[in-house]
Amino acid sequence: MAKILRVNMTDRTATYEDVPDKYKLLGGRGLTSTIVYDEVDPACHPLGPNNKLVFAPGLLTGTAAPTSARVSAGAKSPLTGGIKESNAGTEWPQLVARLGLKAIIVEGYPKDDGWWGLHVTKDGTKFFPAGEYVGQSLYSIFPGLFERFGKKAAIATIGIAGEHRMSMAGICYNDNSGRPSRYSGRGGLGAVMGSKHLKFIVVDGEGGPGVPVVNKELFDQGRKKLIEALNTHAITKPKGALNSYGTAVLVNILNEAGGYPTRNFREGRFEGAATTSGEAIFEGNKQRLGKELYNHACSPGCIIQCSNTWHRPDGSEHVSCVEYESTWALGANCGIPNLDDVAELIWHCNDLGIDTIETGGTIAVAMDAGLLPFGDAKGAIRLVQEEIGQATPLGRILGNGATFTGKAFGWPRVPSCKGQNMPAYEPRAVKGIGITYATSPMGADHTSGYTICPEILGVTGKIDQFAMDKADLSRAFQYTTAYMTDTTGHCLFIAFAILDIASGFEGVIDEVNGVLGTDFKVADAANLGKEIMDRELAFNRAAGFTKADDRVPEFMKYEKLPPHNVTWDVPDETLDAVFWA
Ligand code: SF4
Repeated sequence: MAKILRVNMTDRTATYEDVPDKYKLLGGRGLTSTIVYDEVDPACHPLGPNNKLVFAPGLLTGTAAPTSARVSAGAKSPLTGGIKESNAGTEWPQLVARLGLKAIIVEGYPKDDGWWGLHVTKDGTKFFPAGEYVGQSLYSIFPGLFERFGKKAAIATIGIAGEHRMSMAGICYNDNSGRPSRYSGRGGLGAVMGSKHLKFIVVDGEGGPGVPVVNKELFDQGRKKLIEALNTHAITKPKGALNSYGTAVLVNILNEAGGYPTRNFREGRFEGAATTSGEAIFEGNKQRLGKELYNHACSPGCIIQCSNTWHRPDGSEHVSCVEYESTWALGANCGIPNLDDVAELIWHCNDLGIDTIETGGTIAVAMDAGLLPFGDAKGAIRLVQEEIGQATPLGRILGNGATFTGKAFGWPRVPSCKGQNMPAYEPRAVKGIGITYATSPMGADHTSGYTICPEILGVTGKIDQFAMDKADLSRAFQYTTAYMTDTTGHCLFIAFAILDIASGFEGVIDEVNGVLGTDFKVADAANLGKEIMDRELAFNRAAGFTKADDRVPEFMKYEKLPPHNVTWDVPDETLDAVFWA
């Protein structure tokens, strides 16, 4: 029978608990947000003793469902001050699920300066001293960790930024090749883990009971439908858009639409888009390697395989993965048009354990405020490596994110919502995603309600990107996402296929019913997501959030964004209609 593992860092105990009935049909974000809602005081300090860090594999994670190796990490966020769920694709949650664990709850507070790791196997748990790894680069320690714990282990950890409790610190997991490159990046959850002096959770799933499937026939029917949809859709099929060009295939598309934020959201088109795009990565690799290189899976069982690797001129590996968000944040948003520079910045972010979106957003704000000129790649690398990496006084300012940095520099142009920097879609040029940024309980987060599907990509049918009346659209995307991907454990990128191909959507519901023995219908998906989001919204309101927090920054209302020369003109009433009606 599945268990919850409760880890107390005050007395360093780890105990197995039965799963309460009310959690049995939950997984991923549904479970992390419910546990945070149930157990964390919304008024607590995110880095104090009363916050808890919860990890949960998705409902389908650990089964044979395709593209379902996702982990949700949840807590009160030090970046936003509200509830946070941040998910990542990695083998780690598959092993957690195969050990029969629904969730791992980390609570308590260290009594001294010691740092600890936790090793979880089928035989139980063991704490180990981790002081020797503190202050070290993640790339340098990962090979030794796999030697110590075995190649079949999977690692969740924090880097130097998390040790220093910086709000841009993520939780890092290994990818399929053992690189420290998969992230619960957003919201500073690495700082929460650091506040508890927990450096690692190493998991070995060997010999675990696995994830029970109540109705195997139904489950298999569902996964076949989903596989068929993923293998057919132009975006998700083998050698399709994601497998060829990675998520960075979006660079040229958003640039063309005039919605590609450039130089701290001063423009909507970047003259260096073509040289930092997914197509440029594909062609650059081909030139440097002398052959075409298609992308790989970040985690076992992914059939979309969108994860790329960038190579140096001599053909050696530089970094994996150059995601759309990363090439944008550290490229266009900082005015840097060179892929080798972008790759170097991503490498340093991975090495320190920081979110590439918040890092790029922060450097862009600092550039805008006069610390460096836009386009100064060497200066940007120095800020990351030497200032953040050595936790200097300037590094500690930058390491706490774009909003904090904007305050430190007295700078009003900070493109964030609820303290979290916006991702790579300009809200003035794509109104629906702006509504999601403003209203999501997670802060500015594209993944929480990806209206880019209809607004830019035409998935589910094209909707005018400039149309403003999108409260219903954003809410529907937010509810559906909260369940269909974030709770099931499927990667968000199945959305393209399941939104366009009805049998793919049904397939996910069949998979869930097969695993749980439930009888959910396609029409239930949004309501299941609503139940989860109602708890998140209630947590945030108890933490002090009001309608005034569901807004985009003021400068977007009076600054016209080229090339379309548009401002943020969505009425506040539309924003309030999303979750305050
Ligand atoms: S689609 Fe990409 S990000 Fe999602 S699980 Fe597969 S490789 Fe990872």
